[in-house]
Amino acid sequence: MNFSWIKSQRDVAMFVCAGTAIALAATHMIAFVLLGPAMLFQILELMIICPIVVAPPMLYIVGAAMRAETLMRTKLNKALERHFLNQIYNRKYFFDRIREVLDDQEAAIFMMDIDHFKSINDQFGHMVGDRVIHAVAQTLAKTACDPDFIARFGGEEFVACLIGANTEGAVALAERFRRAVLNTEVYAQGTRVTVAISIGVGVAQHNLALEDVVNIADQALLDAKATGRNKVVLADQPRTLKVA
Ligand code: GH3
Ligand code: MG
Ligand code: MG
Repeated sequence: MNFSWIKSQRDVAMFVCAGTAIALAATHMIAFVLLGPAMLFQILELMIICPIVVAPPMLYIVGAAMRAETLMRTKLNKALERHFLNQIYNRKYFFDRIREVLDDQEAAIFMMDIDHFKSINDQFGHMVGDRVIHAVAQTLAKTACDPDFIARFGGEEFVACLIGANTEGAVALAERFRRAVLNTEVYAQGTRVTVAISIGVGVAQHNLALEDVVNIADQALLDAKATGRNKVVLADQPRTLKVA
């Protein structure tokens, strides 16, 4: 039996009430079968008082323990869904969530990748590299319209989604992402680390499947990398919107 619905004190109270009612009914049924109706009638008061006194405290202890377990499991799942370093979601949570809400709406997918990140690692070390990923994650999450729709794809790559976006809106947000990252301040060895990202934007039109939108956004990201980096490229009609 699944008791993961016990999340609040109210659920515990419901569990206690339902459990007590079942205990009352069960006690009466057992007494009826074992002792017969005449005897049951004689000890009726006892049969009512005993379950009502004994069952609720026991059920409360069990219900409260179940509630604590449910809350703990929810917390743990949240922690697993978010990357421990960046506190933004991982790609599995992101795509599950997108599939839940996307329906037939228009949406834009942004594939983002930090430029020349290997050089940052090589020049400043991996710990500074980690700090850069963390700073970029925070910047992107703050810039996104909804932090639920941004995730670390893996490595130094991020993915975001804008639900209900038209092409202009999507490109404008991608530009805001790009500029915000460029303005992100990370210092190491007494100097400011230059951080930039390239972004590929795919807009879901003509009933494109999510996978297809991700693929065209990926392709646009490759175009952005191949044509100079630190820029936004819109898929399908690849055009450079900003070369800094
Ligand atoms: P490009 O502009 O073409 O994207 O070049 P790049 O150097 O950013 O890309 P490349 O794929 O050559 O290197 C990515 C590097 O990111 C390699 C990998 O060691 C590093 N990396 C991946 N995940 C992490 C991480 O969590 N922390 C750190 N410090 N480095 C990471
Ligand atoms: Mg990469
Ligand atoms: Mg990179």
